[in-house]
Amino acid sequence: MVMSRVHLPVLGGIAVPQVAPADPLLDGFARRIRYLRVSVTDRCNYRCSYCMPEDLGDQLSFAPKSAVLSFEELERVITIFARLGVRKVRLTGGEPTVRKGIVELVARIHRIPGIDQVVMTTNGHLLAELAAPLAAAGLSAVNVSVDTLDPARFATLTGRGELPRVLAGIDAAVGAGLAVKTNAVALRGVNEHELAALCEDAWSRGAVPRFIEHMPMSEGQLYATEAELPSSEIRGRLEAVFGPLSQEARPGADPGPARYWSVGGGREVGIISAMTDHFCGDCNRLRLTATGALHACLGHDDAVSLRDVLRGGGSDEDLVRAVAGAVTGKRAGHVFDRSGTGGPGKHMISIGG
Ligand code: SAM
Repeated sequence: MVMSRVHLPVLGGIAVPQVAPADPLLDGFARRIRYLRVSVTDRCNYRCSYCMPEDLGDQLSFAPKSAVLSFEELERVITIFARLGVRKVRLTGGEPTVRKGIVELVARIHRIPGIDQVVMTTNGHLLAELAAPLAAAGLSAVNVSVDTLDPARFATLTGRGELPRVLAGIDAAVGAGLAVKTNAVALRGVNEHELAALCEDAWSRGAVPRFIEHMPMSEGQLYATEAELPSSEIRGRLEAVFGPLSQEARPGADPGPARYWSVGGGREVGIISAMTDHFCGDCNRLRLTATGALHACLGHDDAVSLRDVLRGGGSDEDLVRAVAGAVTGKRAGHVFDRSGTGGPGKHMISIGG
């Protein structure tokens, strides 16, 4: 029997096994993990009202630099994940582009044997400058958040965002050969009347638009039931403009959170119905925070600290056991409920979406 050399701390209801199972990335519901989302910083240059408004500040303390995983630590952990079967890594945040050396980090992850895809979710603020170097470093795709096409509304919604910069970032990303999707959180009273325009704008730039149902992170504090736009309504609003949407088959595509619909003419739109029609049954993801907490589900606070294993002198086998603990503890599904309560205490900004 392999004995643990380090104490493996637990941050939630997760039991770390003494010996790693034969397939550490297969969970108790026969879901196989292939995809790791890595938050590379908990800091962001925007303050989106539904994610990290200015007045959440006193409840949110940014991790000191020393608490954040270094590039060497990330490389070690991702190499182990790749050995176990992870094929796709998404860098997120906070805002991943504000992490110093992000281009180098992409290059390092891209070189890890077994990692087929390195992709990123970003607010796009720095993308005009970074798209070409990121693509050269091996990034293959970006998801860019664009909730509104009205510059004044964009500035208000994001606290400090500049829409023209973000749109220029999308164009630069498409120009650099990156596959681009846009993300808009659909909110009644905010952008409900813009859904078709957001699609047209994304298509005109060579991007695929997506709409996300608002989720009650932060214990539902930023969640307003009256602002929620269910996917059925998102779809209805799009169909009123574009006619019936037919479901895209996407043969061979990795299961992801979005369901894609075809509008004809080669145009498609994605809808992420996290609340009203969730997709937990084929979830293939784990999430690593900037400070090394491994979460098996966006909708639960359970986690195991890989940083403590790394910094406690843990062996690769200790890391594998910690990962197996998170995977074994992966729940059947999230517990978001329609009232906005029952969501996780963690903040979206800390986990990275
Ligand atoms: N800063 C980057 C960005 O803006 O895309 C990456 C991090 S952000 C947390 C990732 C995604 O989560 C964004 O598309 C954002 O719109 C989405 N998001 C944030 N809070 C959300 C919430 N409460 N419900 C649904 N989506 C949310």
